[in-house]
Amino acid sequence: MKNIIFIAPPAAGKGTMSSILEEKYGYAHVSTGELLRDGRNDGTERAKIIIEAQDSGGLVPDYIVDELLKERLQKDDCKKGFILDGYPRSLDQANKYDEILSEINVDLGVVIYLDTPRELLEKRITGRRLCPKCNSTYNILTGVNTPKVENTCDKCGEELYQRSDDNTESFNARYQTYLDKTYPLLDYYEKKNVLYRIKSVDIDNIMKEIEAIIND
Ligand code: AMP
Repeated sequence: MKNIIFIAPPAAGKGTMSSILEEKYGYAHVSTGELLRDGRNDGTERAKIIIEAQDSGGLVPDYIVDELLKERLQKDDCKKGFILDGYPRSLDQANKYDEILSEINVDLGVVIYLDTPRELLEKRITGRRLCPKCNSTYNILTGVNTPKVENTCDKCGEELYQRSDDNTESFNARYQTYLDKTYPLLDYYEKKNVLYRIKSVDIDNIMKEIEAIIND
């Protein structure tokens, strides 16, 4: 299977697409956001640095991310094929990633860009509501997954809550970081001839396009 790198702004659906591909094809889903979130709670200096960067919408320093990633890619489940969700996020990381791949003797695969309108991303983030009991996710702004009864989980009747970082200010900071650091990667991968662009609006369509790319 071809390894996949997703490049996309926050809330473009990288996580959702990755989960579907993981389930359907057996890809390993490697999310650096998640690897880093796991590293927030061990009380170390490193945890402090991760918390500060994540909570401000900035990037965690490369030496932390690169090390966690290299370790993760060498686990057995990545041998069949893996999806990188959230890495590389800057040109420095893309260069480092080329080095890591040649050290561990693995192919880059394909790079898929999910091109998503900014207004939709903002609605997905600021309208997101979660169930504290069963973790179901809803949205009160996009018209997709609206709770049937206002502020109440359809499945267990629990009152929904909003994550503290799902606000406009945090979205703007993350989006700006994306434009400054990650967007230039499109050019980097275009030159390597591995880039595919998908207009990201509805999930079924995106999935069809991704399958055409990976099964080519
Ligand atoms: P995500 O879950 O991919 O949206 O990532 C959440 C947060 O984790 C980001 O806003 C960054 O602070 C941090 N993060 C995730 N991936 C990286 C990366 N490749 N480099 C630096 N920071 C990252």
